Amino acid sequence: MSYVCVSCEEEIDMDPVDEKVICPNCSHRVLFKKAPETPTRVEAV
Ligand SMILES: [Zn+2]
Repeated sequence: MSYVCVSCEEEIDMDPVDEKVICPNCSHRVLFKKAPETPTRVEAV
């Protein structure tokens, strides 16, 4: 699970426990979930 800190914009890859996600860089406690990049292109054969 990837998160982005709202304070320092550091990208953190971690598993949240009890929804407590703390930035290891600045100890900010509110991080945004980074939306997974999903390829939308489908090739029809
Ligand atoms: Zn941070």
